[in-house]
Amino acid sequence: MSNYDYDIVTIGVGPAGMVISAMGAEMGLKVCAIEKHKLGGECMNVGCIPSKALLRMAKVRHAVTKFPSFQMEEMREPEVKNPFPAIQEKLDYINVHKYGVKFSKVDKIIGEGAASFVDSHTVQVGQRKITGKRIFICTGTKPAMPPIPGLDTVDDILTNENLFHQETIPESMLIVGGGAIGSEMAQAFSRLGCKTTIVQMDPHLLPFADQFAGEQLEKIFKKEGIDVYNNRSITRIEKKDGRVILTTKEGEILEAERLLMAAGRTPVLEALQLEKLE
Ligand SMILES: Cc1cc2nc3c(=O)[nH]c(=O)nc-3n(C[C@H](O)[C@H](O)[C@H](O)COP(=O)(O)OP(=O)(O)OC[C@H]3O[C@@H](n4cnc5c(N)ncnc54)[C@H](O)[C@@H]3O)c2cc1C
Repeated sequence: MSNYDYDIVTIGVGPAGMVISAMGAEMGLKVCAIEKHKLGGECMNVGCIPSKALLRMAKVRHAVTKFPSFQMEEMREPEVKNPFPAIQEKLDYINVHKYGVKFSKVDKIIGEGAASFVDSHTVQVGQRKITGKRIFICTGTKPAMPPIPGLDTVDDILTNENLFHQETIPESMLIVGGGAIGSEMAQAFSRLGCKTTIVQMDPHLLPFADQFAGEQLEKIFKKEGIDVYNNRSITRIEKKDGRVILTTKEGEILEAERLLMAAGRTPVLEALQLEKLE
């Protein structure tokens, strides 16, 4: 008989926490999954799934614009201007009907606050203390904010965390970062009618991927009207008269309605009190 409440405790229920807790429960272990926000983490709620849904909508819209005789079966006209409620509806469905079922054997603590360590085998959530033989840290990452002068004057910065909760597609958007997130969103928003511009310090799009792939992607982006500025050093970003102004050391002064920061990720560890671990 174990001295612990659970064989496995996972902190965070994104893809990592989901796999560990669902597999653990299937293997007959006693599992508790703690999530401060929503099941599915970034991937399900503000990452992979909504971004792919938006890309799909954008692809349909692009096809319709290119070939006007094509019937717009997948997308109703209001969704072109505001695709986000339709995406949210699908996410809510998946959350209840797919994820809920998958985790029926797991004890879940959802939306009761961030978990922190009391010691190596004890976690606290609100007033509750839970012990586990193995505690898995699955707390993921959040958008990194580079220290660019003037950035604090932009009071409505977009990141993947609020991007899918907008009320309309902006008329124009500057995107800092040409990695997977910046590139995907540049194309999705562009195809939905937003003028998108990528500015990045790396020499080609998708800097962690093959250079050839990044260069091919840039060619396609240019054909679609997406501007790409590689090898740029951003000296200032500020909000002036309701517009975002981005200045580079190389001499560009770029302007747009909104700013999307997609310039890397930083681990989410602050609430955990890791110093309590032996
Ligand atoms: C726009 C976008 C598109 C993407 N597209 C893809 C894609 O197509 N394919 C792909 O493979 N990846 C994609 N990703 C990356 C993918 O989302 C991440 O790699 C994945 O979500 C990481 O999973 P995770 O479980 O490690 O962390 P997360 O999904 O970030 O989950 C961590 C969870 O931990 C919770 N948490 C944090 N701290 C605590 C705490 N102290 N107590 C309780 N809970 C806590 C958080 O609320 C969160 O729910 C995309 C990301 C973005 C932003």
